[in-house]
Amino acid sequence: MTKSEQLINEDGKYFAASGRIKYYPLAIDHGYGATLVDVDGREYIDLLSSASSQNVGHAPKRVTEAIKAQVDKFIHYTPAYMYHEPAVKLSKKLCDIAPGDFEKRVTFGLSGSDANDGVIKFARAYTGRPYIISFTNAYHGSTFGSLSMSAISLNMRKHYGPLLSGFYHIPFPDKYRGMYEQPTPNIVEEYLAPLKEMFAKYVPAEEVACIVVETIQGDGGLLEPVKGYFEALEALCHEHGILIAVDDIQQGLGRTGTWSSIDHFNFTPDLITFGKSLAGGLPMSAIVGRKEIIESLEAPAHLFTTGANPVGCEAALATIKMIEEEDLLTASSEKGNYVRQRMDQWINKYDYVGDVRGIGLSIGIDIVSDKETKTRASQEALKICNYCFEHGLVIIAVAGNVLRFQPPLVITYEQLDYALDTLEDALQALQEGRLDQYDINGQGW
Ligand code: PMP
Repeated sequence: MTKSEQLINEDGKYFAASGRIKYYPLAIDHGYGATLVDVDGREYIDLLSSASSQNVGHAPKRVTEAIKAQVDKFIHYTPAYMYHEPAVKLSKKLCDIAPGDFEKRVTFGLSGSDANDGVIKFARAYTGRPYIISFTNAYHGSTFGSLSMSAISLNMRKHYGPLLSGFYHIPFPDKYRGMYEQPTPNIVEEYLAPLKEMFAKYVPAEEVACIVVETIQGDGGLLEPVKGYFEALEALCHEHGILIAVDDIQQGLGRTGTWSSIDHFNFTPDLITFGKSLAGGLPMSAIVGRKEIIESLEAPAHLFTTGANPVGCEAALATIKMIEEEDLLTASSEKGNYVRQRMDQWINKYDYVGDVRGIGLSIGIDIVSDKETKTRASQEALKICNYCFEHGLVIIAVAGNVLRFQPPLVITYEQLDYALDTLEDALQALQEGRLDQYDINGQGW
C-alpha cells in the first residue's frame, strides 16, 4: 500500500463525509508555486488552486515568512476588545482596493460563508427591510445564512431545514444557456422578468434589503452574465432602494486579472465580500462596504473571537503585496489570454467542447454531448478530469460538466503548455472512445 493509500484509508475512519467532495486519491505533502507534491513524491500541476484559495501559489516565501514573523510576536488577541497593527494596516488596504468611490468600513471573519452571513445582517439593519434575493446556481457558503442564499445542490438544503426565511432566488443571466437549460441564452429583459414579476406579485420591492451577486458564478459552472444585465439590475435596485452585494470570494483578488471582478462590469456594489485567497489560504474573510451600511450595527452584532487574526492579517498583507510587486493582476490577464488562444479553438476542434468562457485565469470549459442542445456531458467531463489526474494535473468539474481551470496566478508558461497539451490529449482520447477505463462512480458534485 502506498503512503497515500494508507493516509486516505485512515482519513475514511474519522473525517466526515459531508466535508469532502470525492475526487482523487491525492494526499498532499507540500507545494510550491503551481506545483503540488503528494506524500509518495508524485508531482502535479494544480489547476484548482485549492478552490481558488491559493492565487499567489503554494507556500510563497514572502507569505510564509510574514506568517512566521508574526507567530513569534503573538498569535492572537481578539479584535473584539483590543487593537493591533496588522489589522489596522489590512483594514486600510482593503478599503483602498475594494471597489467604490466612497468612505468604507471593513469587518473580518473566518470563512467566505460567515462574510456572506454578515451581508444579510448589515443589509437588513441598514435598510430595515427583511428580504434577500440571490441567484439560482449560486454558492455562497455553508452556514445557515449563506446556505439560505445558495441554490446549487440539494445536498446543501435537505435534511436540516428549515433554512432562514425571507430568501428568494432568480435565474442567473447565463450567457451560454438560457433559463431552465434552454439552448439559447435569454436577453437582459427576459432574465429580469422573474424579478419584475416577483416585485409585482409576491415580494414588495420596498421590503427587499439586498440582492447578492456573483459576477461570474463560480461553482455554478463559471457562468458569465449576458452583457448589460448587472447595469440594468443596478438601475432597478436604485429605483427601489435595494442594496447590491457582490460575493467576490472566488472571483476576487486577481482571479480575473483585477482586484475585484467588479472591474469588468459597469456597476458598483454597496457591499463586497472577500475570502479564500485573501490571507494566502489561512482562514480569513472580509466584508467591505459603505461606511453608513457597516456602521448600522453596534457591537457585538458582528464579531468573531479569532477574527482579524494578526497572523492572518500579516499573511493577507504579504499576499496583497506579492500581487502588487509581482504584477499578478497583469499575469492573470496575460496568462488567461494565452491559454484562451488555444482553448477557444477547441470549440471547433473537439466534439465535446461546447463553450470556453471566463475572464483572466477564471476559466470554464463546458463539456457537452450535443453542441446544439448544449446537453451537459458530466460523465465525460469526469473522464477528462481523471485522465488529466493520471497525467499529473489537478482539475475538477463544477456544475457536473464544466472543467474548472483556475490555476495559481504564478503558474509558469511551461506548466500552462503542459496543461493545455494534456487537456487536448484527453479531449482527443474522449472523442475516440478511449477514456472508458475510469471508475467515476461517486465522483464529483
Ligand atoms: N462564495 C463563493 C462564491 C464561493 O465560491 C465560496 C466557496 N466555494 C464561498 C462563498 C464560501 O466560502 P467558504 O467555503 O470559505 O466559506
